[in-house]
Amino acid sequence: KRSVAPKFVRSYIAGQFTGAKKANGKYTVTMIEGDGIGVEISKAVKEIYAAADVPVEWEDVDVTPLLINGKTTLPQEAVDSVNRNLVALKGPLATPVGKGHTSMNLTLRRTFNLFANVRPCKSIVGYKTPYENVDTVLIRENTEGEYSGIEHTIVPGVVQSIKLITKPASEKVIRYGFEYAKSINKPHIVIVHKASIMKLSDGLFVETAKEVAKEYPDVKLSFELLDNTSLKLTQDPSEYKDVVMVMPNLYGDIMSDLSSGLIGGLGLTPSGNMGNKVSIFEAVHGSAPDIAGKGLANPTALLLSSCMMLRHMSLNADADKIENAVLKTIASGPANRTGDLKGTATTQHFTEQVIANL
Ligand code: NAD
Repeated sequence: KRSVAPKFVRSYIAGQFTGAKKANGKYTVTMIEGDGIGVEISKAVKEIYAAADVPVEWEDVDVTPLLINGKTTLPQEAVDSVNRNLVALKGPLATPVGKGHTSMNLTLRRTFNLFANVRPCKSIVGYKTPYENVDTVLIRENTEGEYSGIEHTIVPGVVQSIKLITKPASEKVIRYGFEYAKSINKPHIVIVHKASIMKLSDGLFVETAKEVAKEYPDVKLSFELLDNTSLKLTQDPSEYKDVVMVMPNLYGDIMSDLSSGLIGGLGLTPSGNMGNKVSIFEAVHGSAPDIAGKGLANPTALLLSSCMMLRHMSLNADADKIENAVLKTIASGPANRTGDLKGTATTQHFTEQVIANL
């Protein structure tokens, strides 16, 4: 079948996944359904995988937070499942604001040292936005920065949050960025930072990039201030089509939502949390409490995240099959698109159309 669009999510660094098929020819993959719309969109993924005959068996795990010695912890069964299977697909997990348990998203990233978060963003053929031919990828440092979780009340009315940047974590994500840039044939890294103000923390990130770059003489290295990248991305995203952006944690979080906005919103953008041993794939979006349980969620972002996962597992033909069916469905018009894409389809209708287009 002819592809309806160029590959949305490019291939992964070859040889990273070391999992093995079972005797029945299938891989076991951990499924974390997640909260809110997570339940609906992971159901869609399961239905489409079954119809497409993808050689994957799901192992559902519960990640309800446990508080052990005052520390938010994952249930051991979930940890064991991910360690055993080496890959997981994850729905969004809600985090209480300003109080309550530490984010389970952070806990997962820390538990498995998922140091690099790869976030591609590509225009969807047949869905028009003011921006055409967006094709960006950013890699977000995924373990520290403002997400270190170190916060204090100094005196009432004065609080301090620590932005932690370390050389080892910076080195890891930047080296991953160089390897990734080579593997997708975009040999140009742009480090996005704010070292003009955060001279020590972002300064260390910048200096580390210069050092790592010495190992990659064939990859160009440039630097950009975060505010300038925001301006340029919204003025002309095509300027970023041949580069891989690498940036500290919080900047990556914000810039990836901004990038999603260029192509039609959060319902469309996938991501991969990459570790040394284990990788967890998830949509960029959250649990969307405003539409949860109403059958309105767009499962595209989770489906495309699952395609990243399949390519990571070298199941490229299966990834192509699902990705093409998803893109064909979106391109087929508003009756087959969910509300976030100005369509009228329910999650179930969209899922059935994807299956019909397999
Ligand atoms: P959100 O991404 O859940 O929603 C933002 C907006 O986008 C909402 O209007 C929502 O309806 C819409 N949207 C998001 N995904 C959609 C989809 N698949 N289909 C259609 N519309 C979609 O962001 P939020 O409301 O700020 O956060 C809600 C919760 O999710 C919070 O508890 C937050 O902590 C959590 N969160 C989790 C993750 C994660 O698990 N990785 C990421 C971001 C936010």
